[in-house]
This record gives sequence, structure tokens and C-alpha cells, in this order.
Amino acid sequence: MLFQDLDKPAAVFDSHCHLTHARFAADRAAVLTRMVDAGVIGCLTIGTGLADSTVAVALARANPGVVWASAGLDPFSAHEAGDAFAAHLAGLRTLLTDGGFSALGECGIEYHHALASDSVQRDQFSAQIALARELDLPLIVHARSGPRGGDAHAVALALVRAHPGVRGIIHSFDGDAAQTRGWLDVGFHIALNGMVTFKGNDALRAAVRTIPADHLLIETDAPYLAPVPYRGKRCEPAHVAATAAVVAELRGERAEDVMAWAGRNAQGLLRTTPNAG
Ligand SMILES: [Zn+2]
Repeated sequence: MLFQDLDKPAAVFDSHCHLTHARFAADRAAVLTRMVDAGVIGCLTIGTGLADSTVAVALARANPGVVWASAGLDPFSAHEAGDAFAAHLAGLRTLLTDGGFSALGECGIEYHHALASDSVQRDQFSAQIALARELDLPLIVHARSGPRGGDAHAVALALVRAHPGVRGIIHSFDGDAAQTRGWLDVGFHIALNGMVTFKGNDALRAAVRTIPADHLLIETDAPYLAPVPYRGKRCEPAHVAATAAVVAELRGERAEDVMAWAGRNAQGLLRTTPNAG
């Protein structure tokens, strides 16, 4: 503790949460108060579909500087859209150009749950990568491997690589050191959440040590994946500090520094002045 600047605020930013989730309906204002009281300077609330993204941006407008918003068609909403995906994509473009958003996403590849076929998922993801590049917005990528397709990181990375110049975040990162290198090679930031606090994922915990400080982000994915010691409870943005503490321990760094770097990285990457349209 000797060299720690205890007066310095945490300055961490939660780069991925779902404040629009029904589990926050009853006490969202209190959740935000607890977040600010915990020293978290802001959060990015993620839109998973058109309706959800509309609610997300309203939350951002109601909490300027504290809540930021993204809009995207995640693999679940893209699957639900079915034949109407093209119309949803047009709606996403309209939303994003109307303004108020800091990023496009989440979107990506989901092989854990039974969703659209692999080729449909690839097409739906590619279309959103292209839109992010066109609109010059950072892209928030979801890549979940599983029995229905294999290595989602390899597939998502190949598609990102096919769109040079796109920047963004691999969210809820659960990969190993090789997958970390892959995302760093395309210039992406790597966002860690409560999963790094769970015992047993040694490959991920080893990978955490290999992420350069300027490409590291900390997120909650609230209300999901609450870090130890909140595991099993509803996660909320205030819990981001618990994950940062474990990340710092794994890396042999000070929690204050990890939080400050993650906060600065998030604010540097995300559109600081949400597009006015
Ligand atoms: Zn999410």
C-alpha cells in the first residue's frame, strides 16, 4: 500500500453493461448512484436490438457523461429478425446516424446457443462491421464458442480482418493467449469481466497478463457474470472494481493503475462526443 495514491479516484469505466435489462427496471437510478459512489466514472450500456438500442440512447441522454450508449443487432435479435434482417439493418443505420451513440454493437458470432446458421451469422456480422467502418464507430464484438460452430474467435477475427480499418472491442473476452494476440493484431481492445475472477479458467487468466495496458478494458456485462465475491447475484456496474482488482493481481500491477488505464482506454476509443447526426 506504500506507494498507492489513496486519494486518487478509481476512474474506471464499465465498457459493457445492459442497464436496459428488466432486472434493472425497479432500481436503475439507485444502481447508477452506487456506480458513481464506487468511483466508476461512466458506463456504456449496450443495445442488443433496435428497440433495446432506442431505450439505451434515451438512458444516455438522461444521464449525460455518465451513461453512454451503443446500438447493435446481437446474434439473438438478428436471429429473431429472420427475413426482416435487412430492414433491421436499415433501422440500425437510421438510429446510428440520428446520433447519440458511442459505438456499434454488440454483434458477432454465437455458437453456444442454437441460433441462425453459421453462414447467416457471418453475413449478419459482416454487414454490421461494414456499417461500423462506414460510420466511423467503434465495433463491439461478441464471440462465444460452443458446440454449434467451434471457435467463434477465429471466425469473428477473420471477418474483422476482412474489413481493414475497423476498430473496436472484443467484449466478454474468454480466450487464450493466442486469441489475445489475434485481436491485438487487428488493433482491438480486449475487455475483461467477472469471468477472470472465476477459478478454473487458467488459459484466460494467463492471457490477461499478455494484454498491453493501452488495450485493456474492464466491463461487467451486468446484469450477467457478477465477479467474485458477488458471483451468482445480479451484477451491476459498481462491481467493475472487483474485476479490476483481480486483473491487477494477475498482472502484478496496482488496481488503481489498471482502473485508470481501463477508464482512459474506454474514453479514448468510444466516441467521446456522441455523434450528433
Ligand atoms: Zn452484452
